[in-house]
Amino acid sequence: MEFLKRTEEELLLLDAVDRFIEKRIKPLREAYNDVPLPKSVARQVLAELAEFGYIAGTAPESVGGYGLSNVMQGLLTERLSRAFPGLAGTAFIHSAMTNRIAMAGSKKQQDTYLQKMLNAEMIGCGAITEPDVGSNTADVSTRATRTEDGWSISGEKVWISNGNISDIASVVARTGDGKNGLSRFLVERKDGYTSRDIPKMAMNEWSTATLSFDAKVPDWRQVGDEGKGLQITLVGFQTARAYVAMLSVGIAQACLDLAIAYAQEREQWGKRIAQHQMIQEMIADMATLTDNARLLALRGLYLVDQGVRCDIQTSMAKGYATEAAIDVASKAVQIHGACGISSEFPVERYFREARLLTIPDGTTQIQKLIIGRGLTGLRAFN
Ligand SMILES: Cc1cc2nc3c(=O)[nH]c(=O)nc-3n(C[C@H](O)[C@H](O)[C@H](O)COP(=O)(O)OP(=O)(O)OC[C@H]3O[C@@H](n4cnc5c(N)ncnc54)[C@H](O)[C@@H]3O)c2cc1C
Repeated sequence: MEFLKRTEEELLLLDAVDRFIEKRIKPLREAYNDVPLPKSVARQVLAELAEFGYIAGTAPESVGGYGLSNVMQGLLTERLSRAFPGLAGTAFIHSAMTNRIAMAGSKKQQDTYLQKMLNAEMIGCGAITEPDVGSNTADVSTRATRTEDGWSISGEKVWISNGNISDIASVVARTGDGKNGLSRFLVERKDGYTSRDIPKMAMNEWSTATLSFDAKVPDWRQVGDEGKGLQITLVGFQTARAYVAMLSVGIAQACLDLAIAYAQEREQWGKRIAQHQMIQEMIADMATLTDNARLLALRGLYLVDQGVRCDIQTSMAKGYATEAAIDVASKAVQIHGACGISSEFPVERYFREARLLTIPDGTTQIQKLIIGRGLTGLRAFN
C-alpha cells in the first residue's frame, strides 16, 4: 500500500511536528479547556502551524504552499487532533479555505488574500449551513442579488466553523433557481457580516457560529462560475470528509494511548487491570477500530491525491472513523472506571469531543446514502 510509505523528508517533518506539539500545543490545550480560543491566540498559533505545512500545505510552493500530498497533510491533522482536537478543527477549516483560494482562486483573489491567509493575518471560514438548511445543501436560501458593480448578499448561516474568529467567509448563496442556482462568494467581515458563537457540548475552542449577512461585494469576489456553487461545494466535501476522518482518528489514538497507560498502572484483584482478559479485549477492539479508521482515511486521501472521483471512499472513511472514535472513546472511559467520567482525567474530554464529529460535512446517515447511491446507482435522497 503505497500510501503507507513515507519519504525521509516526510519522516523528518513528522518528527519536528511531534516535538512542536509536545512543547507548544499540549500546554495550550490545558490553558484553553473547552473555552473559545481568543482570536489573537488563534492567529498566533495558526501562523506557527503554517511553518509545518498545516495551512494549505498541499498547495504548490509557487503559491506559498508546501507541495505536500493530502496523505501527508492528513497525517499532520491526525497528530494535531491527538493533542488538541479543537485546534485541529480550526486549522483544518482555515487550511481548506486557504487551499481553495490557492488552487482555484482568480489571480486577483490570490494576490489579495493568499499571503494574508497563509500567515493567518486573516482567518477563513466556509458558510453553507442555514437554520433551515442542513443535510440538504441544495436548498440554500441566502440570496446574492446583482448590484451595479457586484453583489448584495443577505441571509443567515449557522454552525460555521471558525465563524466568530473569521475575517473572511466563502459563502454559498442563491443567484438563481434550483441546484444550478447557487454560487460562491468571498465576503470579508468588513463588507457586512456579524457573528455569534453557538455553545456546544465540547470543543468550544473551535468556534462554530451564526453569521448574519447584509453585505455588498464587488464582482471579482465571485468564486468560480455563476451557478457552480453546489458543484464546488460537493467536490470540497469529498476531500474534507477524509480530513474529518483524520480528526477522529487523532481522538481515537489519544484515547487508546491513555487507556493502555491506565490499564498498565491501575491494580485490582492483586494485578494490573491490563492483565484481565476483558480489558485486553477492549484494548484490542479499540486498536482495530482506530487502525481501520486510519486506513480508510488514508486511502481516501491517497485517491484525492490521484485526482480521481472518490466520494464513496471518503464517505466510508468519514462515516466509519467518526463513529469508531465514539466507540473507542467510550471504551477508554470504561477502562478508567469512575475516573473515566471525571473531568480531572483527559478521557472525559476526548469522549465529549469524539461525539461531535458524526455531524459536520454530512452526518453518518448522509455518508451511508452517498455510499448506497454509488454502489446501486440509485439515489435514496434528492
Ligand atoms: C462541529 C461542527 C462544525 C460545522 N462546521 C460547519 C461549517 O464550517 N460550515 C457549514 O456550512 N456548516 C457546518 N456545520 C454544519 C453541518 O454541516 C450540519 O450540521 C450538517 O450538515 C447536518 O445538518 P443539520 O445539523 O441541520 O441536521 P439535519 O440535516 O436537520 O439532520 C437531522 C437528522 O436527520 C438525518 N437526516 C437528514 N436527512 C436525511 C436523509 N435524507 N435520510 C436519512 N436521515 C437524514 C441526519 O442524519 C440527522 O440525524 C458544522 C456542524 C458541526 C457540528
